[in-house]
Amino acid sequence: MYKTDTICAIASAMTNAGIGIIRVSGSDAIEKVDRIYKGKHKLTEVESHTVQYGHIVYDDKVIDEVMVLVLKSPRTYTTEDTVEIDCHGGTLVMQEILKAVIAQGVRPAEPGEFTKRAFLNGRIDLSQAESVMDVISSNSNLALHNSINQLQGIFSDQIKDMRSKIIYEIAYIESALDDPEHIDITGYGEELLPKIQEIIDQISHLLATADNGSMLKEGIKTTIIGKPNAGKSSLLNLLARKDRAIVTDIAGTTRDTLEEQISLNGISLRIIDTAGIRHTEDVVEKIGVKKAYDTMENADLILYVVDASRPLDENDIAIMEKIKDLKVIVLLNKTDLDPVVDADEIHKYLSQDILPFSAKNGQGLDYLEKMITDMFFTGQIMDSNEVFLTNARHIAALSDANESLKHVVESISMDMPEDFLSIDLMDAYESLGIIIGESVEEDLVNEIFAKFCTGK
Ligand code: GDP
Repeated sequence: MYKTDTICAIASAMTNAGIGIIRVSGSDAIEKVDRIYKGKHKLTEVESHTVQYGHIVYDDKVIDEVMVLVLKSPRTYTTEDTVEIDCHGGTLVMQEILKAVIAQGVRPAEPGEFTKRAFLNGRIDLSQAESVMDVISSNSNLALHNSINQLQGIFSDQIKDMRSKIIYEIAYIESALDDPEHIDITGYGEELLPKIQEIIDQISHLLATADNGSMLKEGIKTTIIGKPNAGKSSLLNLLARKDRAIVTDIAGTTRDTLEEQISLNGISLRIIDTAGIRHTEDVVEKIGVKKAYDTMENADLILYVVDASRPLDENDIAIMEKIKDLKVIVLLNKTDLDPVVDADEIHKYLSQDILPFSAKNGQGLDYLEKMITDMFFTGQIMDSNEVFLTNARHIAALSDANESLKHVVESISMDMPEDFLSIDLMDAYESLGIIIGESVEEDLVNEIFAKFCTGK
């Protein structure tokens, strides 16, 4: 491990809270914090991974009563010597302590620098480092679960496994080309083909999760549709439990689309309320209707609100025609009034689930929420038992790797010389390496000589 300068930052939120944490990391972390710490023992003399009680004293002034965590390299977040000062969580007191630390010649950390050090010092790879940010910014339990999976290296392990298979083949080809007398490579392409195909399949599978991954972060795109006055805005308000959409009884109020992000049993839903769909000559309203149709086509789930207190009309028929093959839950709304439409009538047009509902008094809401959660967890909306790709950099690198591997397959089918295969395999290896941030040359050298030394 290289010697680094010592950095510091307030690691907790910059708001007044019960506890604040100032984190200090680097070769001189313990010694420098010790200069402003007064307690029973000197921090430089205590055991690693212990908590010390004392005070931060600077300029002969006691700034705060603190608990100090002393963590010696290498079993720390950054792998460097680290001190965490647990102080009172007022913004002023945290800043005063930080100032005192900086005054000892400690540099304020750049954003993400602690995690960057964890990566540079080899404790985590690049994709794990990225997932640290995802864990922090996750806005649903599921997104959090996915980020933690990535942080624990489930995704990196898959990448590493594919890379080690590829490097093995490269090493074999390179050794054979170097030493044709001892290694016969005839018919090697045929042998290689299924192995490469297997990796292509694995990458394709990962790439297929990318859509679901963005769903996780952004939420399942849920579009509310229906004719004007059916109760769409009321439904959005009910789901979001606040008055976001304007609810009125004048037809055509929601002229544009409104969006709301909600969390439903850990699943993130991005709900879009659309303009009421009806045949209209009004230019502005027409745009709204068109937008409603466009939004519908891109939705992962449609909530179709039917006003059960009015007979179905040509607007309902037009909507049903559009959605009959889509993922839809039909809400038979206003069942608190005397309903004139029932499920049987709708079933003449649609085969999807129909739920009696009242956006006014919330009847059916629990069941609707359960239906959506079930659809999700049974994989009807998306598959929940996967590591989802959410990072554009990973997606691009995996796509590149797949392209290169497809070239390998092509080259084999065209009976190209083995050094061609080796070049494309190397490209795939490098692309995958980009994900975990590994350098190529050193790995390759080590692999070749460790595994295929032919005794020269
Ligand atoms: P939108 O045009 O489809 O967005 O419909 P709104 O949500 O603005 O509702 C239109 C009118 O129907 C408003 O007066 C609502 O209060 C009323 N409304 C909505 N849902 C219900 C319901 O379930 N029962 C009753 N009785 N009225 C409802």
